Amino acid sequence: MNTLDSLRFSLKSENLAHQVTCLACDSSSVQLISSCEIKGLTIFETSLCEACAHVYRSIKPNEIWFNEQFAVRHQKQLEAGISPISEAIEIERLERYGAIGLAMKKASPKMGTYLDVGCGPGTGFKAFEELGIVCTGVEPDTSRSSIAKKNGYDVQEVEFQHFKSEQTYDVISMVHSLEHFQDPLDLLIRAKSFAHEGTLLYIEVPEVLDHVQDWNDSLYLAHMSNFNEHSLKILASRAGWGKGRVIKTYENTGLHEGHLCMVFQLEQNTSPERPNAKVLSELKSEIQNRYALGLPSENAHPHVFELPFLNDLSLGFKGSSELKMKVHDNYAQRHLILKEKSRFVISESD
Ligand SMILES: [Zn+2]
Repeated sequence: MNTLDSLRFSLKSENLAHQVTCLACDSSSVQLISSCEIKGLTIFETSLCEACAHVYRSIKPNEIWFNEQFAVRHQKQLEAGISPISEAIEIERLERYGAIGLAMKKASPKMGTYLDVGCGPGTGFKAFEELGIVCTGVEPDTSRSSIAKKNGYDVQEVEFQHFKSEQTYDVISMVHSLEHFQDPLDLLIRAKSFAHEGTLLYIEVPEVLDHVQDWNDSLYLAHMSNFNEHSLKILASRAGWGKGRVIKTYENTGLHEGHLCMVFQLEQNTSPERPNAKVLSELKSEIQNRYALGLPSENAHPHVFELPFLNDLSLGFKGSSELKMKVHDNYAQRHLILKEKSRFVISESD
């Protein structure tokens, strides 16, 4: 048992944020999938948009709370001598950015400058520099940005809303960052300040049906959004990014291909195609099915999960201190019992 095992992240109603309309398309026609309670207080809620099948958290801890808890965790990690960086994850990150760099070079052969929003420890820059590209990064997490700076990379340790630059970039990327943001629209609007007419915006996020395997995602604190191709297109278009297209970044690389990878360009008066009714309805019912998988049947949405406490800022509640590398492997360690119809109690595995 290490120092981090005893961490508990406490939460009051004033620490919560409410998102009433769809985070992607702003529709108010949404349905509740699930909620999580601690001692009777709903701290996390998952909703599905009727209009675009976007999945988002309609109740969640607010950004101030998350930032405070990240600082607490960082301090505990320092005290325990635990590195926030996993070598295995960074090796994979380098491979992934290698593939992204090649895909961007193909899409924009003259690419010379690159801005990565949420660059982590800057591992991906190695891959871009090998292609002769000048890299800039934004990373608010000190434990990661300090490593990037130590390695000589041009990284600003700020939230993207406070990033400053006099120049525009040929490619701007958000690689597995947009799904974490409470206000992704604001982020995409902000990105336009650093774009020129030919800038390519590369967005990579988990794809909802690839990522959501069962009910456990209802507890996944780290993701504010689970995107599908249509909801990402609609969100981007509201920010003024059009010409959206899916690209197969990881085809033939041996890396996981299930993520949603899309490229956008600035466009005035964007209006994305809405998915046709049949596609939308099939997608919504598959998403509903996914969130019920693993639960005893005959328990309709919305599901309520009663948690004892929060002990992990990504997983929400982990049932064991033994942390697995893959998110889905951690889920198996939770213990779930049916309390009454559609209401479940979650506890630690014994
Ligand atoms: Zn929507």
